[in-house]
Amino acid sequence: MQSLFKFLMTLVVPVVLVVGAFVVAHDLSLVPAALRPLLPWLPYIFSVSGAALGWRFKRSRSVFLFMLLAAGCWVTTSFLPTAPVSTINVQLGYAATCFLLPFNIALLGFLEDRGVLTGWGLLHASFIVAQAVGVLVLMTAASLFSPDLAATVQDMAQQVVYFRLLPEWADSWTFIPQMALLFTALICFGLMTHLAVMPTARDAMHAALVATTVCAMAGLHNVDHGEHAAVFFSIGALIVTLTLFQESYSMAFADELTALPARRALMADCKKLGRKYAIAMCDIDHFKKFNDTYGHDVGDDVLRMVASRLGQVTGGGTAYRYGGEEFTILFPKVSAVEAKPHLEAVCEAIAKSEFRIRGPLPKKAKGKGTVTVTISIGVAERSDEAATPEEVVKAADTLLYKAKKAGRNRVVSA
Ligand code: GH3
Ligand code: MG
Ligand code: MG
Repeated sequence: MQSLFKFLMTLVVPVVLVVGAFVVAHDLSLVPAALRPLLPWLPYIFSVSGAALGWRFKRSRSVFLFMLLAAGCWVTTSFLPTAPVSTINVQLGYAATCFLLPFNIALLGFLEDRGVLTGWGLLHASFIVAQAVGVLVLMTAASLFSPDLAATVQDMAQQVVYFRLLPEWADSWTFIPQMALLFTALICFGLMTHLAVMPTARDAMHAALVATTVCAMAGLHNVDHGEHAAVFFSIGALIVTLTLFQESYSMAFADELTALPARRALMADCKKLGRKYAIAMCDIDHFKKFNDTYGHDVGDDVLRMVASRLGQVTGGGTAYRYGGEEFTILFPKVSAVEAKPHLEAVCEAIAKSEFRIRGPLPKKAKGKGTVTVTISIGVAERSDEAATPEEVVKAADTLLYKAKKAGRNRVVSA
């Protein structure tokens, strides 16, 4: 439920911006007059600054995405409208772009950030350039090959890209070939499914890929209205830029393994506390032995399970991963006594949770397919003796040690 909410949240910014792009493109007077002369340049300004940021953040996929948007914008607003129709088959170039732009954007959803000036990055760049060269050869076939051969090749290509599966009404409203529309719909559906089904793909960049695909196609649709196209390519680049910021924010403040807020977020939130609050320190019992028996990967799965239970703590508490197998729960405006029953409930819920081990059982595990873990908790509140969050954490740590001494799987307060 929580992850579904998170998934929907990643879609909010791109959806709002895409809708905004359609509203602005529908009524260009919404663009401030001072910005209007800048409009044709905006996609490039956003793309270049975004690419520099993506480079700095080591997000090579976003660099490629910015390059694709800038190239798509140039083809749509500069190259195609001014190409000499007599010597270049503009229609073919346009149709090919309608297929290749969404294809290359979607491809990024299945690749990893592996650098731009690395072997892999250069190979990727060459792949994109090769496609562009291929399209140019196809467009200028008449001046490169014999007239007969050129006509045959261009005719065939034309028939392929303009093949109609559905009746004419499906594409009569746009220059975009019908198959490119269907192809884009399929790509967006594939990316959304990937996003919804694979939790690892449930990131902001994936949502941005769907949004930029829509923007790029809307830009291509406006090939005869340069300013409208510029709006869509600008918003596309803006979405990717915002996504980069969103990603770097979550890299700094969220724990990658458990998805709980990380220690840095705890430190930031501690600064916002009033005069009354409680802090609980939680530690998994005998976790070293658990790792030794079942292996580090199962250990990581258990950490995630414990984290998700701690994340559901009631009583207004927020759980953070403090580090290793230790977690912190912050209770603003709550005393230690008030927090204790909520912590006891979590402690009990974790002890009761059976965890099924994936894959083959290690020999040391003695044939058991399920395991349970327990946690110990120490909880302290702000007082005259412990007046700062750091001191309260220290006090909670001392109580945690007492909980361990007293037999573990329990909550100890002062
Ligand atoms: P105690 O009940 O006294 O807390 O015993 P313990 O074994 O849990 O305590 P100790 O601090 O000695 O061991 C903590 C272990 O947690 C060591 C390390 O193997 C494991 N651990 C820490 N971080 C991770 C992690 O990210 N993944 C996994 N799998 N294990 C981790
Ligand atoms: Mg520990
Ligand atoms: Mg431990």
